[in-house]
Amino acid sequence: MKKSPVSEATTNKGKGKGKGDMKKKTPVSSEASNNKGKATAPRTTTYTRGRKRKHVDEPQQQEQAAPAPAPSSTQGRSFTFQLSEPDVLDCPICFDPLTIPVYQCENGHVACSTCCIRLEEKCPTCCLPIGSIRVRVLEKLLESMKVPCSHAKYGCSATFSYTDKRVHESNCLFVPCYCPHTDCDFVSSFFDLPLHFISEHGSSAAVRFSHDKPFAVTLSEDDDEAIVLQEETDDTLFVLHNFVFSLGKAVNVCCIQPDSLPKYRFEIMAKSQGSSLEWKSFTMNIQSSNVDTTLSSRFLVIPSDYFGDLEICIHM
Ligand SMILES: [Zn+2]
Ligand SMILES: [Zn+2]
Ligand SMILES: [Zn+2]
Ligand SMILES: [Zn+2]
Repeated sequence: MKKSPVSEATTNKGKGKGKGDMKKKTPVSSEASNNKGKATAPRTTTYTRGRKRKHVDEPQQQEQAAPAPAPSSTQGRSFTFQLSEPDVLDCPICFDPLTIPVYQCENGHVACSTCCIRLEEKCPTCCLPIGSIRVRVLEKLLESMKVPCSHAKYGCSATFSYTDKRVHESNCLFVPCYCPHTDCDFVSSFFDLPLHFISEHGSSAAVRFSHDKPFAVTLSEDDDEAIVLQEETDDTLFVLHNFVFSLGKAVNVCCIQPDSLPKYRFEIMAKSQGSSLEWKSFTMNIQSSNVDTTLSSRFLVIPSDYFGDLEICIHM
């Protein structure tokens, strides 16, 4: 898919305070990435030339270009502009948002400090040394720009310095979460998802349970499945994944919520003819349900002999 060609940006000379970053474009190489939202929405940035730091928490200045004059000393010094090529603010090697320091080789090719180290200070484009010449102008620009969170459309009102983008967005509570109901493509923050699930799919679409109270779930013997579990009092959504394979079933319990939230402790018990198999672990945080995630994480293998219900207990 294409990126939107135009981005708006707002810069501010003060420092932002956001601490997160989030979804990144798939790096060329390096760590496995999650399938998170592909937020390539236009960036809005505001530029303030004053020396006054303007604090980021100001609720919403990201929208308007400046119609209402603000009676402050920064009046007229902050403006919104558009970037026709948003990629210029990302490291061209790892595609993460640039952070300070930014380096360039003698030919002007840019790289973040992490890439400089990883590439042993050799420019991947022209092979000249890179890692000693800072790009101060770009650093200044990055520092002074304020950008809105990529999850603004899911409710996040934070704005922060571009260099804090990655940190903020990886901890942002408004990361998009996908409805776990089969054939539903609803996406929202995890704050809104439980209500959507109940109002659109009804309470019978999930196994309702209460924290700290064991409940039973019957697994399919033949087919992979994702059984939605919903807590009675706070409506938090969990998914029990059942991956069926030759030896039996692989199961785990995930919670649909941002990665930055604490995980839940749970127990699963399978019983058969006087024997039992118990697994105590922690839920995995996911933003979209996929049975395949079972096998990419920790799971309990229930041998084919252990038929019947599972007993599950998810703690607060
Ligand atoms: Zn890089
Ligand atoms: Zn170079
Ligand atoms: Zn955010
Ligand atoms: Zn739905």
